[in-house]
Amino acid sequence: MLKTQGKPLFYGHKILLLSALEFVLAFSGLGYLIPYGSATIMYVPVIAAAYFYGIRAGVILGAGFGITSIWKASMPGVDYFDSLFSPFLSSNIAGSLYAALGARILFGFAAGVLFALFKNIKINEYVKVTILSITAQLIHTILVLIPMGYLFPESHIDKEYIAGNIFSVHEILQIIFLTVIMCVTVYISKNKRLAEIEKILDESRQSYYARRLKIEGAFFAIFLFLVILALMFHLHNMTIIVANAANIKLPFQARIMFINLQIQFLTGVAAISYIIGVFITSYRIYSVYHINNADKDLMTGLYSKTTAADYGAAVINNKKDFPDTYFMMIDIDNFKGINDTYGHLTGDKVIINIARLLEKHFSAYGLVSRFGGDEFAVFITRLLNKNDIERKILEFQSDAASILLDDGRKVTCSIGVCHVDKEKKFDEVYRKADEMLYQVKTSGRNGYKVYTKV
Ligand code: GH3
Ligand code: MG
Repeated sequence: MLKTQGKPLFYGHKILLLSALEFVLAFSGLGYLIPYGSATIMYVPVIAAAYFYGIRAGVILGAGFGITSIWKASMPGVDYFDSLFSPFLSSNIAGSLYAALGARILFGFAAGVLFALFKNIKINEYVKVTILSITAQLIHTILVLIPMGYLFPESHIDKEYIAGNIFSVHEILQIIFLTVIMCVTVYISKNKRLAEIEKILDESRQSYYARRLKIEGAFFAIFLFLVILALMFHLHNMTIIVANAANIKLPFQARIMFINLQIQFLTGVAAISYIIGVFITSYRIYSVYHINNADKDLMTGLYSKTTAADYGAAVINNKKDFPDTYFMMIDIDNFKGINDTYGHLTGDKVIINIARLLEKHFSAYGLVSRFGGDEFAVFITRLLNKNDIERKILEFQSDAASILLDDGRKVTCSIGVCHVDKEKKFDEVYRKADEMLYQVKTSGRNGYKVYTKV
């Protein structure tokens, strides 16, 4: 199985996914489903980001919350309280920027810090999430409402107002909603199958098709943007036509309002498209993984020769992404003798042991495969230079020598290595590594040789 180093590919996507959810909640009205009052579930993606991905994610989502809130508050005709959140409509630009954006960024930050502090405390996860959801809600009120009382004295947001707000029915409903959604999210995140899918998606980061997906994703984004522009243009024209037909001459402000509404609507559509796109892509990657998995050698669980050759061809074609690739062939020494002396069952065990050792030493750096019989091949695509590889080979050989046969005989392997350089086809790399392997075999076995240009 391919393992990744560093940050998983889907980290960025997860943050974008939560942001998209935030935009859908904001612009579809789903974020304000609780009737009466301004109770909202807009906090959920912020708190979820802070809980699952840390302070930075909380800050990013907090900013998203703030931007949508400025956007909506800037509609002409919103009520007085909402207009305080718009730097375009209120009398105190800095105050509005703080209330709408600054306080929400601080909120995301505070939620991240809280979760980080709680991380190592050993209490039931759901109790933790419940406490933190309630606290986060209070923090939000403190960060937004208390400063607003000072920033906008004419708003009459005073102690009584804030107390009334905290203990109001809709605020309590909101806390319950928040807590339930967070508990359900945490419950779902513990699902083993989901964890497996996530792991596969993260592992696919280094795979040869990740690059292709990125290119396809970029084209999809451009296409989506153009479609959205066309939709906006159409919607705007139709609004004017409908107004004209009803003999209404739309004043300038109303037109701006419609354009704002259209942007909100289409941003929501783009956000939903993105969410759907990520799900489709994830499903595709997962399916490809399973197809590859079906193409594994049954006895060892390593990739088969065909998969390895396909992988090799893709690596060679995308040399830019894999600048330091080595191809390594490994063959067990005198394996026929092992079969003849100890029987095929022992022979099989030796093959499986060697497979495990190759995985142990090399699977973090590339693709390990069984080419057939007692022959294995490894593509090393990351992190290793020639010295690292030689060190790793020696470590592997020393581990292999600890597989003792019944009479104390040691298992040894011969290894041929080729650095992928100017080769255009996998066969060329294969031939060179094989040549090195042959040289090791003819010069006494139990060793390795790296191909060098002559
Ligand atoms: P050398 O050091 O030159 O590699 O000598 P060798 O005896 O290892 O020669 P070779 O690599 O050609 O031998 C491979 C043998 O592996 C031949 C075949 O009978 C045996 N073999 C192939 N597949 C399996 C398997 O799945 N299980 C077992 N037990 N033996 C296998
Ligand atoms: Mg052999």
